[in-house]
This record gives sequence, C-alpha cells and structure tokens, in this order.
Amino acid sequence: MFEKVLIANRGEIALRIQRACRELGIKTVVVHSEADREAKYVRLADESVCIGPAPAQESYLHMPAIIAAAEVTDAEAIHPGYGFLAENADFAQRVEKSGFVFIGPRPESIVMMGDKVSAKQAMIQAGVPVVPGSEGALSDDPDEILETARRVGLPVIIKAAGGGGGRGMRVVNHESDLINAVQMTRAEAKVAFGNPEVYMEKYLEKPRHIEIQILADGEGKAVWLGERDCSLQRRHQKIMEEAPAPGIDRDLIYRIAERCAEACRQMRYRGAGTFEFLYENEEFYFIEMNTRIQVEHTITECITGIDLVQEQIKIAAGVPFTLKQEDIHILGHAIECRINAEDPYTFMPSPGLVTKWHTPGGMGVRTDSHVFSGYRVPPYYDSMIGKIITYGQDRKQAIARMDIALSEMVVEGISTNIPLHRELLHDPVFIKGGMDIHYLEKKLAARS
Ligand code: ADP
Repeated sequence: MFEKVLIANRGEIALRIQRACRELGIKTVVVHSEADREAKYVRLADESVCIGPAPAQESYLHMPAIIAAAEVTDAEAIHPGYGFLAENADFAQRVEKSGFVFIGPRPESIVMMGDKVSAKQAMIQAGVPVVPGSEGALSDDPDEILETARRVGLPVIIKAAGGGGGRGMRVVNHESDLINAVQMTRAEAKVAFGNPEVYMEKYLEKPRHIEIQILADGEGKAVWLGERDCSLQRRHQKIMEEAPAPGIDRDLIYRIAERCAEACRQMRYRGAGTFEFLYENEEFYFIEMNTRIQVEHTITECITGIDLVQEQIKIAAGVPFTLKQEDIHILGHAIECRINAEDPYTFMPSPGLVTKWHTPGGMGVRTDSHVFSGYRVPPYYDSMIGKIITYGQDRKQAIARMDIALSEMVVEGISTNIPLHRELLHDPVFIKGGMDIHYLEKKLAARS
C-alpha cells in the first residue's frame, strides 16, 4: 500500500479522498489554490502545498505545479478526483513519466474514452449497443451531413467528440438548421475542447439516463456494481441521482452491465469507470464512458457496501483484486441530492460566507461536504458544495429519509438549491419514479 498520496482536487471530493486515505492508513498531501487555504481538508492533511492563485488554470489545472508538489513531499501517487485533470490523458502520462502512480486508468484508456467517437467505436466492437448516428466523425461535406441526418432521422443531436460536462451539444429539429448547427458546434468545440471533431446521434425524445459502475484491475478482471438513475437533470447536468433505477427489468440490467464488465476485461481497463446509457423503450444505448470516480459514486457505495475510492487506491497500488461478481450484492435504495450554492429559482451562483451550516444525521443519512459555519464559498469554482445521501431498505424509505434530512439542514448566508430538492421529493411523478431526462426542465418551464 502507498504511504503517501497527493490529492489533486478541491472541495467535497478532496475531503472524500482524504477520508479514504486515512482509513487505509495513508498520509495525505493536499494541493490547494490561494482561495482554498482555509479549507477543512487542508487543515486535516498531513502536508499541504499552495500551488497557485485562485483561477483553476493557474492552480488545479497547472500540471507542473502539481507534479512539483508531489516531488517535494515525496508522495507516491496522485488522486485526481473528478473534473479538473481527472480525464486528462496528458496529465496521467506526465504523472507516470515523473515516477508517480496515477490513481486512474492507463493514459491510453483515457484517450480512447475521452474521444466520444473512438469510445463509441470501441463499444460497438465490444457488443455494447450505442445510440444510432454517424458511425464516426462528421465530414465537412454538407451533402454527406444531410444524407447522414436523413438516414438517422430527425431530430438529431450534434455532439463534440471531445465534449464533457454537458457542453458542446446542439439539437436539430429541421433540415434547414442542420449545416449551421454543425458549423457552430464545431467552432465551439474547437475553442472549448481544442478538438473541432463533431458527430451526430439520433436525438432520443424521452430517454432516461442510466449508468453502470464498474471496477477493474487493469489485468483483465472486472466487476460491475449495479446501476444509477441520473435522469433528473438541468442543462444536461445531474442534480439528483438514485440507485437502483426504478422499474427496469433486472435481467436487462444484468445483460448490459455484464457487457460493460466484459469490455473492461478486453481493454484491460484499470480502476473505477462508468458507462453512461440512455434508456428508452426497454433498450439501452451507450453515450459515453467516464474514466474517473463520479460525483454520484456515493449511492453505489450505499447499496453495495463497497468503498469505491478505497478500491481505486488499492487497484492503483497493485493490491491483488479479490472482488468477485458473486460477492457483490445490491441491497436497499439510495438517493443523492447535490447541494449547489445557487439561487433555487434563477440558478444564479451564490458564493460567499456561510454564516451557519448544520447538516442532518440519523440512520441512513450521509453528508459529504467540506463546508462548515464560517466557510466562504469561493466564486471561482463549481457551485456544488456538498451532497446529502440517504439510504433505506426501499425507495420509499430513502425518499422519506431525504425529506427529513433536508428539513433538518440549515444553511445561512448563501442560497442553495435545497428548496428545489424538497419540492421534487413531493412531486408525484418523482414519487412514482422513472422520469425521463427532460422532466425537470419541463417542470421548471411550466412553473415560470
Ligand atoms: P457529457 O460528456 O457532456 O456529459 P453526454 O454524452 O454524457 O455528455 O450527454 C449528457 C446528457 O445530454 C445526457 O445525460 C442526456 O441528457 C443528453 N443527451 C446526450 N445525447 C443524447 C441523445 N442522443 N438524445 C437525447 N439526449 C441526449
């Protein structure tokens, strides 16, 4: 096992990784920007290194500073968390070239899955069903683009091969908008992701977002840990997730998840990963793979009892992989609410001083957050400041516990989206379960 791990992230996930390390008896080095000097996990770390000013470009995305911090502190491995450099193959490569272990997949796997076009091609080869569309990147030829759109059938969605975080996508409903949409997405993708390649998919009208969690050892072993339903989204960003996904045939999940695990065995994938699917009319369609720990990993931990971050670290350290599929049992139901520092109705970010912070507790309640009374939410980063997770014997109990947990929670000084979560928990469509990915936006639009 490692003696010392460097955590190259911030916020709740930095604390989450630190907790995993401490439980495994590993010392932690935390790197932080000038804006995060006072963070809880910085104070709890064995060592901390300030790597630059507040803007992420000059700190959390500044690879030489992070690697230099590992060098001066003699850390053995680097955990990238999610976001920032977590899916940057160049970073993974530089970490390994500098003699450290990257807690994540091999750079080749990140490259292959980071390009959504090559990821889809790899999945087709592995027998995983994908959303129908252009079987590769779109050419520049307008006639060819039009022909592809006619074959796939409108509406279609134009997506950036290098896209992520719900950005770089454009829906096309009319043929007359097609070429312009392709050109605009291409131009945006070039600026935002440094890759102008775009592809086309059938735009599914009422899908659910269902994803499969896997763990693999890099030597050809892989297991899957059930699914998560992440259909409650706004602007392609998840806000509430649950596991298992209500109302889906277990045999169907079993078959698709086994395909994902098999794909990991074939590519000798290493670490934690998530296969994201759209699910419509009892069919699964692969959209992308995330080669990192995800925000919503916590609900999978609740229903399997397996600490995914510890597993990531153990796999990276080369501890023999002993998890077997038959040892993974899914029990009960879990829900996660992402707590964002934002106005619950206008969604405007609401950074600033948290004058009072009281988190809920009780049986089946977990809070993952680095916030405390007196903490100042910096304006420079993502607005998510924590996650409340509840677990119950069944979905009804998990919902009831979430409702109570959110009623107990006190946040003063800034605005959060807790009122929206509380409203959703009483929404009859949510209570029934199985909403599609457009449900939340339609509900919000109907209200305003
Ligand atoms: P990102 O990497 O930016 O998260 P994804 O490919 O995972 O992009 O898509 C994010 C979200 O966009 C999905 O959860 C879904 O809501 C929507 N989406 C993506 N592809 C399609 C599609 N073909 N049809 C309908 N919605 C889609």
